[in-house]
Amino acid sequence: MAKLRTKTVHTGVYKDKAYNSVTTPIYPTSTFAFEALGKNKGYDYTRSGNPTRSALEENIAELEGGVACSVTATGMAAITAVLFNFKPGDHIITGDDIYGGTYRLFKYVFEPLGYQFSFLNMRDLKSVEKAVKSNTKLIWIETPSNPLLNILDIGALTKIAKKKNILTAVDNTFLSPYFQKPFDFGVDLVVHSTTKYINGHSDVVGGAIIYSNKKLEERGRYLVNALGVSESPFDCWLVLRGVKTLAQRMESHQENALAVAQFLEKHKNVKKVYYPGLKSHPQQDLIKKQMKGFGGMLAFELDTKKVPLDNLFKKLKYFSLAESLGGVESLIEAPWFMSHASMGEKALEASGITKETVRVSVGIEDKEDLIDDLGNALK
Ligand SMILES: *Cc1c(COP(=O)(O)O)cnc(C)c1O
Repeated sequence: MAKLRTKTVHTGVYKDKAYNSVTTPIYPTSTFAFEALGKNKGYDYTRSGNPTRSALEENIAELEGGVACSVTATGMAAITAVLFNFKPGDHIITGDDIYGGTYRLFKYVFEPLGYQFSFLNMRDLKSVEKAVKSNTKLIWIETPSNPLLNILDIGALTKIAKKKNILTAVDNTFLSPYFQKPFDFGVDLVVHSTTKYINGHSDVVGGAIIYSNKKLEERGRYLVNALGVSESPFDCWLVLRGVKTLAQRMESHQENALAVAQFLEKHKNVKKVYYPGLKSHPQQDLIKKQMKGFGGMLAFELDTKKVPLDNLFKKLKYFSLAESLGGVESLIEAPWFMSHASMGEKALEASGITKETVRVSVGIEDKEDLIDDLGNALK
């Protein structure tokens, strides 16, 4: 079977029967004409299905090793659709340091509707087991966590879930299928914000749900169509273009992130660095067991008495002060004040994020330039 690098380039792309273009055409149409009553060419209406979207779905499903995929307008749209597999009264276990937007959706949209959530430190497997109730329906896993790069044991959590017939879903946005394959550990669903590494060029928002079996696929496709959250053909085309270089980008992100992390770890104005590729990361065994690489995200605690946040951000040339991540250009931000602000102070503190925490999405620029830039700004 073809390797991942080959699949990123070839899977799902040959759809032009008319002129044999080597890239997938965009089909910007809302509707498709029937040849006769009940007879069409496989598509009837773009919310329900579109050939450009199908090409991207095939590609991502193959990369993750699932049976199928639905791509959605945003990552949050994908997560919303997954949540509609459940209903008020159902209980969901998840981490206390998940993506801020996911926390907001769970806590302030679905909880008021009657869904129940336990936000736990899921590194503590005992506390997960203790939290399981008769109405627990889903364990939502995000690993590595955002922004502190804590690692959750996908295999162990899946084992707890399977014993009680609970579904598992992994948000695989941070590592992408190039560095982590959650289906190898028996999970039921994988979710992505394709806005990040899968597309990789900061020029589109999108999401994906990848299914491990036909039953979940059938319900998932029904939900994505019924809720109306599928991705536009134009955006699908962009993501399909971006994903072709996933492997090469992930390698560069990782090489640069490791170099930057090692540099920061030695810097006197940096108190602590969070990066799975550093020996100082406390979860070495788990990292070896479940990850094929460390990715391009890191965070650090800045000594803000010596270097105020604003000074750091203002002096940087190559790191834009911005939320989001996973694009070719380096981004930097303060989660307390930006990406994770919607969590509220109490939840922020509980998760270990401080006012000095800085998150970096390391891009694919030259690593020496990045280090020079940081060195200068940290003076
Ligand atoms: C960005 C992100 C999301 C949300 O995706 P959008 O495309 O912004 O809606 C979900 N999970 C993680 C880990 C993310 O980084």
